[in-house]
Amino acid sequence: MSRIALLIGLCLTVTCASPSAPITPAALVNATPLSPPAWYASAYAHMEQCSGLSGDYARVRWYHVPGSLVHGPDAGGYAAAVTYPSLHTIVIADFYASDTLVVRHEVMHDLADVTSHPAEWFDGKCGDLMP
Ligand SMILES: [Zn+2]
Repeated sequence: MSRIALLIGLCLTVTCASPSAPITPAALVNATPLSPPAWYASAYAHMEQCSGLSGDYARVRWYHVPGSLVHGPDAGGYAAAVTYPSLHTIVIADFYASDTLVVRHEVMHDLADVTSHPAEWFDGKCGDLMP
Protein backbone atom coordinates (compact mmCIF):
# COMPACT_ATOMS: atom_id res chain seq x y z
CA MET A 1 0.00 0.00 0.00
CA SER A 2 1.40 3.33 -0.96
CA ARG A 3 1.88 6.04 1.59
CA ILE A 4 -0.96 8.14 0.21
CA ALA A 5 -3.37 5.22 0.14
CA LEU A 6 -2.53 4.63 3.77
CA LEU A 7 -3.18 8.26 4.59
CA ILE A 8 -6.51 8.20 2.78
CA GLY A 9 -7.47 5.06 4.64
CA LEU A 10 -6.65 6.67 7.94
CA CYS A 11 -8.55 9.78 7.03
CA LEU A 12 -11.62 7.73 6.20
CA THR A 13 -11.65 5.80 9.45
CA VAL A 14 -10.75 8.64 11.78
CA THR A 15 -12.09 11.98 10.77
CA CYS A 16 -9.24 14.23 9.80
CA ALA A 17 -8.65 16.80 12.47
CA SER A 18 -6.76 18.99 10.08
CA PRO A 19 -8.03 19.26 6.53
CA SER A 20 -5.00 21.30 5.69
CA ALA A 21 -2.60 18.61 6.79
CA PRO A 22 0.56 18.99 4.76
CA ILE A 23 0.72 15.85 2.68
CA THR A 24 1.92 15.20 -0.80
CA PRO A 25 -0.48 12.87 -2.60
CA ALA A 26 1.04 10.87 -5.42
CA ALA A 27 -1.40 12.59 -7.73
CA LEU A 28 0.28 15.91 -7.08
CA VAL A 29 3.61 14.84 -8.53
CA ASN A 30 3.05 16.65 -11.81
CA ALA A 31 0.23 18.83 -10.59
CA THR A 32 0.16 22.57 -10.29
CA PRO A 33 -2.44 24.68 -8.51
CA LEU A 34 -5.45 25.51 -10.63
CA SER A 35 -7.34 28.76 -10.37
CA PRO A 36 -10.82 27.36 -10.83
CA PRO A 37 -12.99 29.04 -13.42
CA ALA A 38 -16.08 30.75 -12.04
CA TRP A 39 -18.39 28.00 -13.23
CA TYR A 40 -16.74 25.53 -10.83
CA ALA A 41 -18.31 27.49 -7.96
CA SER A 42 -21.68 27.38 -9.71
CA ALA A 43 -21.31 23.65 -10.28
CA TYR A 44 -20.44 23.15 -6.60
CA ALA A 45 -23.47 25.18 -5.49
CA HIS A 46 -25.68 23.22 -7.87
CA MET A 47 -24.43 19.92 -6.51
CA GLU A 48 -25.06 21.08 -2.95
CA GLN A 49 -28.58 22.03 -3.91
CA CYS A 50 -29.56 18.83 -5.69
CA SER A 51 -27.87 16.52 -3.18
CA GLY A 52 -28.98 18.27 -0.03
CA LEU A 53 -25.38 18.05 1.16
CA SER A 54 -23.45 21.10 2.24
CA GLY A 55 -19.78 21.64 1.75
CA ASP A 56 -17.43 24.56 1.61
CA TYR A 57 -16.32 25.50 -1.86
CA ALA A 58 -13.67 27.85 -0.51
CA ARG A 59 -11.81 25.04 1.19
CA VAL A 60 -11.45 22.96 -1.97
CA ARG A 61 -7.95 23.04 -3.38
CA TRP A 62 -7.81 22.50 -7.12
CA TYR A 63 -4.84 21.17 -9.03
CA HIS A 64 -4.37 20.21 -12.62
CA VAL A 65 -1.98 18.04 -14.54
CA PRO A 66 -1.08 18.23 -18.22
CA GLY A 67 -2.66 15.70 -20.54
CA SER A 68 -5.64 13.50 -19.90
CA LEU A 69 -4.67 11.26 -16.98
CA VAL A 70 -4.14 11.80 -13.27
CA HIS A 71 -2.33 9.27 -11.13
CA GLY A 72 -4.88 7.60 -8.90
CA PRO A 73 -4.28 6.57 -5.30
CA ASP A 74 -4.21 2.91 -6.32
CA ALA A 75 -0.98 1.53 -7.69
CA GLY A 76 -0.99 1.96 -11.42
CA GLY A 77 -4.34 3.70 -11.34
CA TYR A 78 -5.17 6.59 -13.61
CA ALA A 79 -8.28 8.69 -13.99
CA ALA A 80 -9.59 11.85 -15.60
CA ALA A 81 -9.49 13.35 -12.13
CA VAL A 82 -8.85 12.29 -8.56
CA THR A 83 -10.48 13.71 -5.47
CA TYR A 84 -9.18 13.34 -1.95
CA PRO A 85 -12.40 14.06 -0.02
CA SER A 86 -10.78 14.14 3.39
CA LEU A 87 -8.28 16.68 2.10
CA HIS A 88 -10.78 18.62 -0.03
CA THR A 89 -8.30 18.35 -2.82
CA ILE A 90 -9.29 17.76 -6.43
CA VAL A 91 -6.75 17.02 -9.13
CA ILE A 92 -8.04 17.18 -12.69
CA ALA A 93 -6.37 16.46 -16.00
CA ASP A 94 -6.28 19.45 -18.32
CA PHE A 95 -8.16 17.53 -20.98
CA TYR A 96 -11.17 17.25 -18.65
CA ALA A 97 -10.93 20.57 -16.85
CA SER A 98 -13.78 21.99 -18.93
CA ASP A 99 -15.92 18.85 -18.73
CA THR A 100 -18.95 19.63 -16.57
CA LEU A 101 -19.66 15.96 -15.86
CA VAL A 102 -16.15 15.32 -14.60
CA VAL A 103 -16.16 18.44 -12.44
CA ARG A 104 -19.59 17.65 -10.98
CA HIS A 105 -18.50 14.04 -10.39
CA GLU A 106 -15.43 15.14 -8.43
CA VAL A 107 -17.42 17.73 -6.50
CA MET A 108 -19.80 14.96 -5.44
CA HIS A 109 -16.86 13.00 -4.04
CA ASP A 110 -15.99 16.04 -1.96
CA LEU A 111 -19.54 16.73 -0.80
CA ALA A 112 -20.45 13.13 -0.01
CA ASP A 113 -16.99 12.47 1.46
CA VAL A 114 -16.63 9.19 -0.38
CA THR A 115 -13.88 7.68 -2.50
CA SER A 116 -16.27 5.10 -3.98
CA HIS A 117 -19.39 5.67 -6.10
CA PRO A 118 -22.53 4.89 -4.10
CA ALA A 119 -25.61 5.06 -6.33
CA GLU A 120 -27.20 7.31 -3.73
CA TRP A 121 -24.84 10.07 -4.74
CA PHE A 122 -23.69 9.14 -8.24
CA ASP A 123 -26.99 8.05 -9.75
CA GLY A 124 -29.51 9.66 -7.49
CA LYS A 125 -30.74 13.13 -6.67
CA CYS A 126 -28.23 14.82 -8.92
CA GLY A 127 -28.71 12.44 -11.82
CA ASP A 128 -26.24 10.08 -13.41
CA LEU A 129 -22.76 11.36 -12.64
CA MET A 130 -20.89 8.38 -13.98
CA PRO A 131 -19.03 8.94 -17.23
ZN1 LIG B 1 -15.32 9.02 -8.95
